[in-house]
Amino acid sequence: MRRALLELVALLATANFTALSGQVSPEPTISGEHIALVGGTVINPADGKITRNATVFIVNGRITDIAANMVMKFGGRSINCVGKFILPGYIDTHVHFFQSADLFTRPDGADFNSVRPYKDEVAWIKSHLDDVFARYIRSGITSVVDVGGPMWNFEVRKTANATAKAPRVAVAGPLISSVSREKLDLGDPPIVKIDTPHQAREFVRKLAEQKPDLVKIWYIVDKDHPVDAFRPIARATIEESHAHKIRVAVHATELETARAAVEEGADVLVHSVIDKRVDDAFVKLLKDRHIILCPTLVVFERYGRTFSHQLNLTPEEEKWGNPEVIASLDVTKIPQDKLPQRVKDALTDPKAALDRIKKTYDVALPNLKKLEDAGVTIAAGTDAGNIGTIHGPALFREFQLMKEAGLTPMQILQCATANAAKLFGGETGARIGKLENGYFADLVILNSNPVDDIAHASDIDTVMKNGVAYPADSILR
Ligand SMILES: [Zn+2]
Repeated sequence: MRRALLELVALLATANFTALSGQVSPEPTISGEHIALVGGTVINPADGKITRNATVFIVNGRITDIAANMVMKFGGRSINCVGKFILPGYIDTHVHFFQSADLFTRPDGADFNSVRPYKDEVAWIKSHLDDVFARYIRSGITSVVDVGGPMWNFEVRKTANATAKAPRVAVAGPLISSVSREKLDLGDPPIVKIDTPHQAREFVRKLAEQKPDLVKIWYIVDKDHPVDAFRPIARATIEESHAHKIRVAVHATELETARAAVEEGADVLVHSVIDKRVDDAFVKLLKDRHIILCPTLVVFERYGRTFSHQLNLTPEEEKWGNPEVIASLDVTKIPQDKLPQRVKDALTDPKAALDRIKKTYDVALPNLKKLEDAGVTIAAGTDAGNIGTIHGPALFREFQLMKEAGLTPMQILQCATANAAKLFGGETGARIGKLENGYFADLVILNSNPVDDIAHASDIDTVMKNGVAYPADSILR
């Protein structure tokens, strides 16, 4: 210990940091590719390990070593991280790039075609992908999973993975659904109604040609679509996907739907169960089958709050969300005669909207706590892109709600890093979500300690993606 201290003093004496003003210096580097992050506290949520005064070495976008002391003599570029906290980049495991989060993005839920034609909305979305990517990076989110959209989702993945200032993207293609959504169909629909097991297998084979990271099932249940009616289609979808070595993610928000999906072999549940408290048999089933569950708590409040004019965007969302998207969410700016009935009703009785949200959280939050305590793998995700759920910073509202559910800051961070990484397969999945040798240098550098208070998770100084450091304040300029 004494020797280590002496060494540290000696090192400090010869310290030759890159000049800093609270942020990474844009000065040219020596080698261009060798970087050392010096003196920060490294937090690795995977195992909860915290290393103070550490040095993280990065070569060619990969972490090559993490030393448990401050190493000053270094042939590359040193970045002073004294007083900072270094974590793996966050991962949002539930987003939709085909949706903007504005008021017009789901005409099947609230039809505003008379205000803004849906085809214009889609054109806007396609022309703003770089903007959305940058907002993820600004929020410290270096990887995302798009769990369903049109076939052009595969182009989004290609574009993102060829863009430096973008998160790594995994995608599912169109949702295999028990119901149809004609208003979203402009020729490349995000949701496809499948009526027979044979159709399901054919559709999966067509999807498999695009090498999806996941196949997504939209298991919608109502009085006209009982759980058992769709079950053979879910089974065929899962069997065919597994035959192609593709995992299956299922939207199933009722306990019995979720149970059926898992019994049929689903790998991922992309939402919380919100109709009932989960029982012990369900918890055991999820554990035994190694299911990953993504709670998406934030999305459950955002439709109702937007439509009833009670939106509660966080400061992060206000600052880092797209301003056009946010401006659209004020329903009082829409002429009365163009408001869909659903929105008129919400405006007439705003308290009912809040009551419904409370009822959902009264179930979803204890369910999350129970699953976390039981050791089920929880992966953080928001369902960003849905009306009012802002691409990028919505994750910080999700963190608040996970905290309300009773999760510790370290548990929340684990859900948003190491656990979330399990949604990615192959090479990428094996190199994101942790700060370890060989992992991608995808990380966030914070000004304050998120383990003390999860609110600090958004106190971002610098975001690094693939070894390239972006001072946070410069990203959206
Ligand atoms: Zn979704």
